[in-house]
Amino acid sequence: MANCKRVLVTGGAGFIGSHLCERLIARGDAVMCLDNLYTGAEANIAHLRDHPAFAFLHQDVCQPTTIEVDRIYNLACPASPVHYQRHPVQTTRTSVLGAINMLDLALAAGARVLQASTSEVYGDPAVHPQPETYWGNVNTIGPRACYDEGKRCAETLFFDYRRQHGLEIRVARIFNTYGPRMQPNDGRVVSNFIVQALRGAPITIYGDGRQTRAFCYVDDMVDGLLRLMETPEPETGPINLGNPVETTMLELAELVIELTGARSKLVHLPSPEDDPRQRMPVIDRARDALGWTPSTPLHTGLERTVAHFDAMLRSGPPVL
Ligand code: UDP
Repeated sequence: MANCKRVLVTGGAGFIGSHLCERLIARGDAVMCLDNLYTGAEANIAHLRDHPAFAFLHQDVCQPTTIEVDRIYNLACPASPVHYQRHPVQTTRTSVLGAINMLDLALAAGARVLQASTSEVYGDPAVHPQPETYWGNVNTIGPRACYDEGKRCAETLFFDYRRQHGLEIRVARIFNTYGPRMQPNDGRVVSNFIVQALRGAPITIYGDGRQTRAFCYVDDMVDGLLRLMETPEPETGPINLGNPVETTMLELAELVIELTGARSKLVHLPSPEDDPRQRMPVIDRARDALGWTPSTPLHTGLERTVAHFDAMLRSGPPVL
């Protein structure tokens, strides 16, 4: 195909990464998926493994790589607080060394490189909702800092490689994303609530449940990432990608109960340390620069996600 590109997706066996690989292949690109399978899963890419345009590299992004490539999406990093806090030093290493390795690869290969940054760069935000111009409020020594500061440093590296070497970079700040292929036990709120509801177990609300997030369906997120990557220079981001509908955890729990028909009760557990109180993106920049707005309402996206977990729980081994 004339416009076929050689695309590297780090973290390609993860939740967002596997959806991205799928979409790239569907549009005719040749995809190399690099993943160390720490939180990624072979099951996420099982349906792509035999495709002639797909290759899997079982490798850690912390190892330098030499590949001929036109585009790099750097998604590799555990993203759930439960996972990224388990080996915090490795989390920072993955963000920082992974960014350096992918930037060096982009330089050597003449490729454009996109960093999957995060709304966590805003920390527990003192400005609400969050525009890209807000510099954030991160506790540098708290338990979330391994992720937040790792991602902040990666953004710094991206912009310094651009200033110093003229590299073509793109930076997306990804807000809470959900959908099929989230791991049932990854500890995040959407997967926790749905799995608990489907099993009739109590739904665990951390704190008073009045903290907010804005949830974006994975197909919309992938669409935003693809658009950002192909948006011409001089657009670099950082650009917020998220669905600007603010939802409390109590509202989310009610919605999940309604969609599953569960009889689960709500139980309140202590709030995690440094848990951000509120979060919602301003997406004017994505609208203007990318012509992007999320189109999947929370209700619709949750229905699909419930169907995914329902099928998984019926067919698979018990989820611990
Ligand atoms: N949360 C909750 N119950 C759970 C898991 C999470 O109430 O079983 C809360 C958590 O305290 C946070 C919000 O849901 O306020 C989103 O948490 P998640 O780990 O999904 O994402 P992040 O904090 O990284 O946005």
